[in-house]
Amino acid sequence: MTGSNKYKVIILGSGPSGLTAAIYTARANLNPLVIQGQLPGGQLTTTTEIENFPGFEDGIFGAELMEKMTKQAQRFGAELLMKYVTKVDFSKKPFKIYCEQEEFQADAVIISTGATPRMLGLDEEKSLLGFGLSTCATCDGAFFNNQEIVVVGGGDSACEEAIFLTRFGKRVRLIHRRDELRASKIMADRVKANPKIEIIWNSGITKLLSDKTNSLYGAIIKNLKTNEETTIECAAVFYAIGHKPNTDLFHDILELDENGYLITEPEGTKTNVAGIFACGDVQDHKYRQAITAAGSGCMAAIECARYLEENE
Ligand code: NAP
Repeated sequence: MTGSNKYKVIILGSGPSGLTAAIYTARANLNPLVIQGQLPGGQLTTTTEIENFPGFEDGIFGAELMEKMTKQAQRFGAELLMKYVTKVDFSKKPFKIYCEQEEFQADAVIISTGATPRMLGLDEEKSLLGFGLSTCATCDGAFFNNQEIVVVGGGDSACEEAIFLTRFGKRVRLIHRRDELRASKIMADRVKANPKIEIIWNSGITKLLSDKTNSLYGAIIKNLKTNEETTIECAAVFYAIGHKPNTDLFHDILELDENGYLITEPEGTKTNVAGIFACGDVQDHKYRQAITAAGSGCMAAIECARYLEENE
């Protein structure tokens, strides 16, 4: 290992939480290294326009917002590395981080590896994500005013998103693979009582339909009991079939909750190992917004700077 692979702070991940942590730690003269991960810029780079990030009154494309955050972090001296972490050793200080054979050392680590929305695995998903297919109702619902909307899933997220989307949609059809919702009773009851929501039971989407301009206009739905297929028209399909927090690296190393999210101190970003902080979607399954991720990135940076000051 070369001497230049030793840092005060290493940030894992480059979504809004990681880059905000980078801006704050860089401005605190902590010269952070950001290891960007498999999807530099994070989930926002897979969306199109973002209308709810404060400061951009006309909206901004997700990729552009992340580019601006990246440049802002670099302006204050953050170093960005387009690599993927394959192993960590947090058992003693300095903490060790490996990208394949390459070793990095840090006095403190901020984890912002995010979460990955679960997908159905249909061929059309890649090209239609951001063009009628979405994994975030709060982010994209307002684009589909007075149009037909479909939500897939039967958990609390699907119910919450279906109810939220009734503000915009002419009708919201909730497609669930079973004949019973997994969601809590209160959420399920609200969905069932909502006149704008129609539940299509025992069904799944087998194909997303798009026109020549690559805009989604419908889906083929299969009844999983009868195998009967029907085509429905809709302007948008929202997947709400859960998220997978990107925490595979930390199993048996840091405390995770039953869904695999990193556990942090209440209202803070400290994990169970002193000097290791976590922010953004990797520790938040409740809000999952760019702005809340950025906020927790700021918190992690401040807590990290204080930790380093106290332990110098
Ligand atoms: P979830 O509870 O895991 O539900 C995922 C849903 O998607 C399930 O209904 C599941 O069907 C369905 N699903 C999964 N894979 C599928 C596939 N390949 N094809 C079709 N359907 C599929 O996830 P979540 O709703 O995101 O919630 C995650 C956690 O956050 C839960 O603990 C939830 O209670 C919590 N949460 C709470 C609130 C709230 O309290 N307001 C809001 C959101 C989330 P099956 O039911 O058949 O398995």
